[in-house]
Amino acid sequence: MTTPSLVIALTKGRILDEVLPLLAQANIVPSEDIEKSRKLIFDTNLPHVRLMVIRGSDVPTYVEFGSADIGVVGKDLLLEYGDEAFYEPLDLGIARCRLMTAEPIDRPAPTGRLRVATKFVNIAKRYFAERGTQIELIKLNGALELAPSMGLADAIVDIVDTGKTLTANGLEAKELIANVSSRIIVNKASMKIKNAAIREVLAQLGEAVARNN
Ligand code: AMP
Repeated sequence: MTTPSLVIALTKGRILDEVLPLLAQANIVPSEDIEKSRKLIFDTNLPHVRLMVIRGSDVPTYVEFGSADIGVVGKDLLLEYGDEAFYEPLDLGIARCRLMTAEPIDRPAPTGRLRVATKFVNIAKRYFAERGTQIELIKLNGALELAPSMGLADAIVDIVDTGKTLTANGLEAKELIANVSSRIIVNKASMKIKNAAIREVLAQLGEAVARNN
């Protein structure tokens, strides 16, 4: 029986840098240098495996609809997208960071409703609703750290790694919403139809993760 073809959707940027060595340990190596190419889909050393390189926020969509069988994406985006649409069988333990609230250092308590700027609107809504805090949500797509100093928001919900970006913008991290690392997600139908091929990839990646921890 021929091995079914597999498409693996990877997230551009920091996650890509950290996942390529793990994929190599799992014997999946792109046929050309992804970082140096403008292509978005790549063949690999395995004739049945191809790699797509896209924005993290698009990885869940490609996997949900089955255009990719497997995806690599940060837990922050899974919490934002909702995680019922696919399986999440493996924590790769890479690109670790924290999803946090942050606000200006020594900010006085806001008088009205707390204005929160973020690109993680679903996460922020859920987080503050669970605490019974009424907020006004302001959706931004980037440079969230600017919003408080420009008078747009009292607080932000954002990814924090070293905290240097916050400090450079006069902000401090406050509450931890979630610890984040990159996860493997799998399309539900692919998991049934291409079970053996997907299990093989998961087993190899699982071993690579275990070796690196
Ligand atoms: P830092 O200054 O080290 O706290 O980095 C914070 C900025 O880097 C944030 O604004 C994030 O956009 C980005 N960042 C840090 N770690 C990650 C990660 N693991 N995944 C995605 N973005 C990250």
